[in-house]
Amino acid sequence: MGKGGKASENGSAFMPPKYVSMDDVREHNRKGDSWLMIEGKVYDTSRWGSKHPGGAKILGHYAGEDATDAWKAFHNDKDFVKKFMKPLYVGDVKDKEESDIQADFRALRKHVEENELLKTKPLFYVLHLGHIILLEIMAYCLISYMGGSTASFVLGAMILAVGQAQAGWSQHDYGHMSVFPSHKINHIFHHLVIGHLKAASSHWWNFRHFQHHAKPNVLKKDPDVDVAYLFLLGDYVPKSWAEKKKGFMPYQLQSNYWFL
Ligand SMILES: [Zn+2]
Repeated sequence: MGKGGKASENGSAFMPPKYVSMDDVREHNRKGDSWLMIEGKVYDTSRWGSKHPGGAKILGHYAGEDATDAWKAFHNDKDFVKKFMKPLYVGDVKDKEESDIQADFRALRKHVEENELLKTKPLFYVLHLGHIILLEIMAYCLISYMGGSTASFVLGAMILAVGQAQAGWSQHDYGHMSVFPSHKINHIFHHLVIGHLKAASSHWWNFRHFQHHAKPNVLKKDPDVDVAYLFLLGDYVPKSWAEKKKGFMPYQLQSNYWFL
């Protein structure tokens, strides 16, 4: 199969599907030459990255791989998304296989969906946001009206810490577009909570967090586990850092100081 191949047939009723092997897919695994396999169909995303609403980086994490589970998790309206995928279709994979971890994950997803665990309870989110705002007001009033004593300062800090930690979880769910049926309203609440209650950027968080969920705990792909200098994770990083004599922390004790 040629580099960056493209096709428009997409296995229609009139044209038999074209076939590519999983080895073919694996060869297209770099920037400017990337194929993805989704539900047994292969798509050439080499030039799609700059137009992809989630950005090019997240697509690049799956170049040459089976992206079925991430694709399913990230796209609510799959029929709408498939319209954009049609022109990128390359062929069908005949020899696709399911790894143990994919089988486990798919069984888990089925269980979650069957038990309606992804269904939102709006009242919970109203009360949750309400209690965060109440905690913020309480801390403000405490410092303003009780004076700047150490006791009111410490108590105010503790109340704010709880409120801010809760706001972190709250913004997470709005950022996931998982509270309201409308994307626009989720975005508004996400901006409100992360921007105005936590003073952070919604775009920054989305960019990081989508990569985190696309490749959870995969070093160099998940930014949330990129905590080098303070902690060295996995098998490869500690060895390579030791060889280069990089880093300054007592890494042999990292399991004891992580909680700080
Ligand atoms: Zn998340």
